Amino acid sequence: VSAREGAQRHRVVVVGCGFGGLFATKALRRAPVDVLVIDRTNHHLFQPLLYQVSTGILSEGDIAPPIRDILRRQRNADVLLGEVTGIDVQRRLVTVTAPVGRREIEYDSLLVASGSQSSYFGHGEYAEHAPSMKTLSGAIALRTRIFGAFEIAAQESDPDLVRRWMTFVIVGAGPTGVELAGQIAELTHRSLRGNFRHLDPGRARVVLIDAVAEVLPEFPARLRRKAHASLERLGVEVRLGTRVTSVDGDGVDTDASDPAVARIESFVKIWAAGVEATPLGRMLGEATGAAVDRAGRVAVERDCTLPGHPEIFLVGDLMHLAGLPGLAEVAMQSGVHAARTIQRRLEGDDESRPFRYRDLGTMATISRYSAVAAIGPLRAWGIAGWLTWLLVHLTFLTGFKNRVAVVGNWTIAFVGRGRAQRPISSDQVLVPSSVREKQAPPAAGDR
Ligand SMILES: Cc1cc2nc3c(=O)[nH]c(=O)nc-3n(C[C@H](O)[C@H](O)[C@H](O)COP(=O)(O)OP(=O)(O)OC[C@H]3O[C@@H](n4cnc5c(N)ncnc54)[C@H](O)[C@@H]3O)c2cc1C
Repeated sequence: VSAREGAQRHRVVVVGCGFGGLFATKALRRAPVDVLVIDRTNHHLFQPLLYQVSTGILSEGDIAPPIRDILRRQRNADVLLGEVTGIDVQRRLVTVTAPVGRREIEYDSLLVASGSQSSYFGHGEYAEHAPSMKTLSGAIALRTRIFGAFEIAAQESDPDLVRRWMTFVIVGAGPTGVELAGQIAELTHRSLRGNFRHLDPGRARVVLIDAVAEVLPEFPARLRRKAHASLERLGVEVRLGTRVTSVDGDGVDTDASDPAVARIESFVKIWAAGVEATPLGRMLGEATGAAVDRAGRVAVERDCTLPGHPEIFLVGDLMHLAGLPGLAEVAMQSGVHAARTIQRRLEGDDESRPFRYRDLGTMATISRYSAVAAIGPLRAWGIAGWLTWLLVHLTFLTGFKNRVAVVGNWTIAFVGRGRAQRPISSDQVLVPSSVREKQAPPAAGDR
């Protein structure tokens, strides 16, 4: 061992710079360690505001600050762009597939915070017709679908096709589905008013479907009812207790008993129905024998470590621990807990301390000036809920520049009625094959 190697500091590799990875890294800023943060994107993503990118309120940069910029003052942290495709727990190596090839990186402590991805519950074929919104590129693609639909509807003369372009179906009535439905409804009735000469955007239909019996099932009953009523006031058709049985380019089929409403013809479907852990969870489960639940989350010890591997921490959406939900706050707190454990061990304190989650509540917006929030015993809705939501989201948004940009865009969208962030181009707009075939010009020689 060379003198340089002998003096090497403890190496912490952090996989994923979402809420868990970022908060863990920041919590290690004073620790005598070298941190390497690996992410397949160059940004931290504030997922709770993704729906505002899809609906033209915010731009992508507003909610996705560069990781390097966030960590620029943290001298013990470095960043690597690449996808972690393997973890060798015996040799303590992670394999990274980077744009210029594969490399192996050694660690002394590993913190896996790769989060979750959309789940189609075994129906991956739905993804083509009903995209989800879990990444920045997904939200931008959705923005193209939503605003593209109005553009095409404005060019169509066939009323049946206009109706299909102007029918927005959202599958999943959790916070993401509710927020999307509310924002699309507001877009149609308020923001796009006066933008079209030959189309009335206010005639669009927004349908929110879920197999469960109530919207926002994880919220207190009173807030569920308030949210449901707000959605209906906005003109959203809420169809609960209804299961989607198939999705194709032209619409969705449901199990509704009335055949007249079971099929919904729509060219714009959005999947907001479920998430599952990223594949690194199953990979670690297979490598170590740790239990993995149906959503791909790994059962961890109470201190967030992988059973039998105290040097590996799993935090956030990837971990299964005491029924904790997949929330940003859980990810942040578990990331910090893991970082403190690493630091304490280096100070000679090996005692394992359980992760205790401090529940800071949950909230969802429905439209401007309307949100529901449950924080401890406090229940807020309407404008009070919305102001609470606004304050909490601004507080947690990373980066001063992002906060300024977001406040500017919120002023445009909520005080005014504009949607400043909606650029699309004609080559990006997806047209279902049934429409393409109908409208294809006759081939040369076909006279
Ligand atoms: C649309 C939406 C709205 C939400 N709204 C709310 C809300 O209002 N309130 C709330 O509390 N929670 C909300 N959540 C949930 C919350 O965002 C998650 O619980 C939280 O992001 C989990 O943090 P995490 O660190 O585990 O993973 P993430 O924040 O998802 O971060 C994972 C990171 O890992 C990276 N990554 C993944 N795989 C690899 C790999 N193999 N190699 C390298 N990098 C990888 C990803 O690029 C990403 O940066 C929402 C989620 C979504 C999708």
